Formats: sequence, C-alpha cells, structure tokens
Amino acid sequence: MSSLPTPPKGENYFRTLFEACGESFIVTNAQGQVIDCNDAALDLFSCSRSDILGTTPLDWSPELQPDGRRSDEWATEIFSRAAAGETVCFEWENYRLDRKPVFVSVTVRRAVIDAQVCYLIVSRNTSDRKQAENALREEQDRFQTLFESSPDPVWIIENNTFTECNEAAAKILGYPNRSQLLFVHPSRLSPEIQPDGESSFIKAERMMEIARKNGINRFEWIHTRANGENFPAEVTLSAITLQGRPVIYTVWRDITERLRAQEAVKASEARFRTLFEQAAVGVAEIDTLSGRFLAVNRKYCDIVGYCEAEMLQLDFASITHPDDLADDLAHMEKLKSGQIRNFDIEKRYVHKDGHLVWVELTVSPMWTPENPPDKHIAIVQDITLRKEVECQLEWLAHTDDLTGLVNRRHFLAQAELELSRSIRYGRQMSILMVDADLFKSINDLYGHAAGDSALKQLADIFRGTLRSADLAGRIGGEEFAILLPETDHEMAIELAQRLRRVVAESRVALKTGLQLQFTVSIGVSSLISRDDNLDILIGLADKGLYLAKNAGRNKVCSSLVPFVITS
Ligand code: GH3
Ligand code: MG
Ligand code: MG
Repeated sequence: MSSLPTPPKGENYFRTLFEACGESFIVTNAQGQVIDCNDAALDLFSCSRSDILGTTPLDWSPELQPDGRRSDEWATEIFSRAAAGETVCFEWENYRLDRKPVFVSVTVRRAVIDAQVCYLIVSRNTSDRKQAENALREEQDRFQTLFESSPDPVWIIENNTFTECNEAAAKILGYPNRSQLLFVHPSRLSPEIQPDGESSFIKAERMMEIARKNGINRFEWIHTRANGENFPAEVTLSAITLQGRPVIYTVWRDITERLRAQEAVKASEARFRTLFEQAAVGVAEIDTLSGRFLAVNRKYCDIVGYCEAEMLQLDFASITHPDDLADDLAHMEKLKSGQIRNFDIEKRYVHKDGHLVWVELTVSPMWTPENPPDKHIAIVQDITLRKEVECQLEWLAHTDDLTGLVNRRHFLAQAELELSRSIRYGRQMSILMVDADLFKSINDLYGHAAGDSALKQLADIFRGTLRSADLAGRIGGEEFAILLPETDHEMAIELAQRLRRVVAESRVALKTGLQLQFTVSIGVSSLISRDDNLDILIGLADKGLYLAKNAGRNKVCSSLVPFVITS
C-alpha cells in the first residue's frame, strides 16, 4: 500500500506559495501594521517593500469610500469582525503610492501564527470592472438627464405599455402626477379612433411592431389630454436596448401649430389660385431670362388665343408685335438692372389667329432687390376695343366730315411738324392753297347738295393724284391746303397744274342726271429760307391764290415769281 503524497515542508515552500498565489497578499500584526506582503501586493500599490512595511491599510486609503462612508470607521468595524473570527469580504478603494485610486475586492481573516495574532488580507484588483461600472453609471445618468430635461415628451415603452416618462410628458397631457400615466397602453392616452379611421389600439400595436422591425418609425397621432381635449403629435418610436432590455424610446412633438400654419398656407394658396384663375385680367408668371411663360391663367390664354399647354411652350417675345418688342425689352432691361421697380406699357400681341390685340401690360418682378432676376409677373388687360375707340375719336377729331380730308387744326399741326423737319434736314417743301372758283354760284345754280358733291369729288381727286407722303386738308368752306414734303417749287407748280387740269376735266354726276363742272385756282409757295415759318408759307400761297383769282381763275400762281401766271 503506497503512502499518500506529502507536500514539501519548510519556509521556502510556503514563501513560494505566498508569492505564487497571484493575488495581493498582505499580513498585518494585531495592530493592523503590515509585517509582510507578496510581490503582487507591491504591484497593486505600485510601491516597494520598504514603502509598505509598518504602514496600516488606512495609510493607503482615501478618507471616504465611494459610498460615502468614512474609511477609518469602516476599517475598525472590519477588523473587529475579523477579530471575532469572521472572514470579511468587501469592496474597497485604495491609493497607490502615486495617490491614484485602485479598486479592490478584499477578504480579511484572522490567523494565529507562532502564537502571534495576525490578519491575512487578500485583495483582487477590480479597477477595470469598476471603471466599466462607472462608465455604465455615467451613461445611465446622462441618459436620465437627457430624458428628464427634454422639452419634448419622452416615454419608454416596454411590453407595449408606458413604463417611464419625463416631466414634459405629464405636462403636455395635463396630468399632475406622472405615475398616472405609467403601465398603460399608448392607446389609452388617445381617442378611440385615429383620423384615418383605424382604432387607436390596433394602430398603436402596428406602429410599435414597425418600430421593432425597422428600428425607427415616425408618424402622426392624435392624443388626448387629461381634460379630454385632443391634439396632434408627431411620434417617433426608436427600438433600443435599455439596461439589457428591448424597449421603445418614444418622443412626441405637439404639431398643432405646425398643422395650423400648414392649413393657413394651404388656404392662402387656394385663395391665390382662385384669384389667379378667376381674374378678369390675364396673369402670367414668366421666366425673366428666357421670357418663357411658366404659368398663365385662363384670361391670358383667351387674350392671345393659345391654350395653356401652347402658352407654356412660348416666350413673350414670340407673340409680341415686332414693332412693340424693342420698347418692351428696353423696359425689361431697366427692370432687371434695378433702375425701375415695375412698368406699365401699352403694346400689341399677335393673336394665334393673326389679328392684333392691344394690351395694357404691367410687369412686376418676383425677385427681391438683393437677389438676381429670376421670375416676373405680367398682368395684361385687353384694350383693343378702347384703342379702336381712341383711334376713331382721334380720326374724327382730325377729319373733316364732308370730305374725309384732315381738318384745319390737324393740317396746321402736321404742317408745323413737317416744316421743322424740312428745315432741320435741309429738305425742300411746298404748300398749295386751293380754292373752288365761283362756288357760291354753283350752290345757287345747282343747290347746296350739288356743291357738297363737288367738294367730295375734289377730295377724291386729291387722294387719287397726291403721293402718300402728301397731306391735303380742308381749311375753309371751299378752301383746301396741300402739304408737299420733299418737293421743290417747280415740282409743286407742276403738281398744282396737274390738279387744276384734273379738276377742270372732271364732271360731278348729280342726282338730277346733270353733269356739273367746276374749276379751282391754286397758289403755290415753297420753303426758301431757314427763317421761313408756316405763316409766311401760307401767306405766300394765299398771295399766289389771290393772283390766280385775279388772273381770271382756273389758274396756278406763284407768289415767288411775281406776275408770271401759269395756266
Ligand atoms: P371765288 O372764285 O372768288 O372764290 O368765288 P366764290 O363764290 O367761290 O367765293 P365766295 O367766298 O364768295 O363764296 C364761297 C362759297 O362757297 C360760299 C358758300 O356757299 C360756299 N360754300 C362754302 N362751304 C360750303 C360747303 O360746305 N358746301 C357747299 N355746298 N357750299 C359751300
Ligand atoms: Mg371760291
Ligand atoms: Mg373761298
């Protein structure tokens, strides 16, 4: 029978064990003074043997332990328990030699070696664990602070009920005590049915399921306050892990104001759309750089004859009358460069049918002064009718009823203009004064209506004989004046002779069947000096006329060439 194996004996054997055990091992005497320690203890406290021998554990401890207890009081308690035979285990904070903290898990027990009472203190470094715990605690504290200080209501949902909420949550719902809100299903703080018709309970379950599946879920929700009032909120559910448990972190934001603002914008947009669509004037939004129509209302389309889709392919220049484009573009340039803030012009569009449409156009920029031009608003009013009436009135104001020639006032005004142009450009210009001969006796013989017919015929002869640049006007009863631009004296006399002959050879067919014959006398004057004025020219032509009458009528006379009477 073999004997049991026995360990080696002797000081060396125990010293080796003491050193090899890996944990810090300190031996103190009954007074708590260190009398021995292993290398692991020196490592733990970062000191040498001479630093630690003779000291007590309290010399290596802060005044207070992390839980706030005084180190000396607690150490006294530990030693007295160990003295009573208990193996005391506890967590402790020590200092190293360099005063850095080191956290340890300690076992203290009493022993009697060689009849001497001593204490065996075994410490395990738990600093790493402690640090991790501290980091976790800080994380939790930070989370708790964020949770509590969030101005938006924040909730934690666990197992589909609210398990935690912040102060803001109780406040927004109008509950004095947040405990009333906990351990209820989210649908309990909502009306029975959501605006889309789904039951709050079913929808809440569905929303939480989506959050769990996708990690996050954001949606709008109607909640109910303590006083029964409903309000809209935007809810964000985030699936997170809190202290190892899967929960849903929930944030609400009251969106009453946002929805109200959205509604107001929608209402105002609708109002403007109606105004735009129903406006009695054409309204268009135009891209300033390209001139393309971006939006047009029905009236604009009606005015120019294109449908909306066609308009959106066009630019304003392409439907503007070519003669009016330069003016429009010049105004646009001033608008773009900021010289003017808006403008108002009358211009012509070419209708899709080809006819012209007069419009009054008002253009206002949509850009603000500090920004580059991008879009402008054009408002157009069809003024074709007004223009026609204006034209007619102008024509009437200028025209002699009986003959359709221009009247005295308009003739004189035009003659003034032409005279100043001729003087400025050094051009020739002549005037004829024409008077029907013995017209009184024509009236007397054939009646006033016959005389009228003769005057009308005379006007027709002027129209048929004169160039388009010439202007004939009726300046008295049977007296006419003719303006001949770019015509010298000789050419004017020639023309006067031709007129005189045509009149003399013409016949006026009367209702009675009779053929009426009449003649005219003509005085001619021409621009000779830059100092001439209209009165001088008319006076000279009158003088020629007087000479023609005196010479026996049916004559052409020039006052410039006295006494030479041509016929
Ligand atoms: P003279 O050759 O010297 O010009 O003779 P005259 O008869 O034409 O000249 P006078 O100045 O004596 O008379 C002008 C006449 O012209 C008088 C008037 O009855 C006639 N008369 C003027 N205006 C009209 C008109 O609108 N219609 C008609 N039918 N006659 C007119
Ligand atoms: Mg006469
Ligand atoms: Mg006369």
